[in-house]
Amino acid sequence: MRSPHPRKQFAQHWLRSEKALDRIVAAAEISSSDRLWEIGPGTGILTQRLLPLAQAVVAVEIDRDLCQKLVKKFGKVENFLLLQGDVLSLDLESHLVNLTTFQQPNKVVANIPYNITGPILEKLLGKIAQPREHPFDLIVLLVQKEVAQRLYAKAGSKAFGALSVRVQYLAECEFICDVPAKAFYPPPKVDSAVVRLRPRQIEIPAKDPKWLETLVKLGFAEKRKMLRNNLKGIVDRDRLTKLLEELNINPQVRAEDLSVPEWVTLADRLNV
Ligand code: SAH
Repeated sequence: MRSPHPRKQFAQHWLRSEKALDRIVAAAEISSSDRLWEIGPGTGILTQRLLPLAQAVVAVEIDRDLCQKLVKKFGKVENFLLLQGDVLSLDLESHLVNLTTFQQPNKVVANIPYNITGPILEKLLGKIAQPREHPFDLIVLLVQKEVAQRLYAKAGSKAFGALSVRVQYLAECEFICDVPAKAFYPPPKVDSAVVRLRPRQIEIPAKDPKWLETLVKLGFAEKRKMLRNNLKGIVDRDRLTKLLEELNINPQVRAEDLSVPEWVTLADRLNV
């Protein structure tokens, strides 16, 4: 397929690095019984590599013109299913009800549109208070580097933010490789990276996950402030100081210094 003119509105950047494609495919550890979900197949450069390896590939693409081209290219391939629509509003499972081969994809592999990364992550993982009902075995995504860094950041590092807590509560996150802007046409303004997420049950879940969500949101509201200042609207300052001391945490900590298990403990202990 000749590369169609990329549309800005759909955050279209065609990946053209064989090396990056190799890394994405390897990271997905694909076996012949895997049913893959690809978001934003674009010209099908990644799709083409996934099809021979997996039992099935379901791709969701919003751009009608691209869909026509994809149908021409892969329409006859038996293990390929293309759905045209917006990944955020589409109810995937309802489209797959009578299609045994494609039902309940167990992995996601995608070079996603960067402008909707947050909502896509929430769609794939769910929220702290409402994890996805059928978690995926594995999710490999090409994302903006800055977002990737947040996803696998360790507590205490600058990149560790509310997104890190929300995602790491639901999944293990690993860095796979950097992908420079020039690996795409047209090159995006930012560099990219491949990450791998493995959804899992957190060892000790929060007793009140909704409260943990609120606490994380407010705790990170102003990153330069101390945690107790960010939380002063909802938690009594002296009570928080005392609790942090009890937990052997410096009362002057910032939100980014608390690990995910520490967030859970804090939420549980402040909720009584
Ligand atoms: N995977 C391709 C294209 C990546 S660009 C490659 O690696 O070359 C992102 C793709 O996501 C584009 O094809 C774009 O049309 C599609 N897209 C953008 N917004 C979307 C949405 N809301 N739902 C589904 N696909 C979307």
